[in-house]
This record gives sequence, structure tokens and C-alpha cells, in this order.
Amino acid sequence: MPVAPRPYKLVCPKCGFTKIVRLESDALSGKDLLQLSVVCPRCGTAMNKEALNRFDRFMEKWFK
Ligand SMILES: [Zn+2]
Repeated sequence: MPVAPRPYKLVCPKCGFTKIVRLESDALSGKDLLQLSVVCPRCGTAMNKEALNRFDRFMEKWFK
């Protein structure tokens, strides 16, 4: 059974916009690839990939 990759977040270094990315499986679809290379919807800056911290995990649990 393949294990789904852990979710991570994208953080814009310019304006602070963050987005949690949750891939549904380790088989990447076109939609997943789109999520892997995103620019900030607010300012168009390439966002950094970061691991989720405890607070993010808590938020994700409640805002699914
Ligand atoms: Zn931004």
C-alpha cells in the first residue's frame, strides 16, 4: 500500500501568504504537479515549500 506524502505548506517570502498542500497519493497527477510549482496568488512571487509545524497540523485538522 503506497503511503501518501505528508502535507506541507507553501509560504510566500514576500507577502506572507501561506497555503497548505495535501497530495492525495504518491502517484502525481497533473493537478498535483500544478500544486508543486505555484506562485503566490497575491503577488506572483515563487513560494517556498516548508514542513508543517504543530500549529499548522492543528489547523488542518479543524479546517478540512
Ligand atoms: Zn505573495
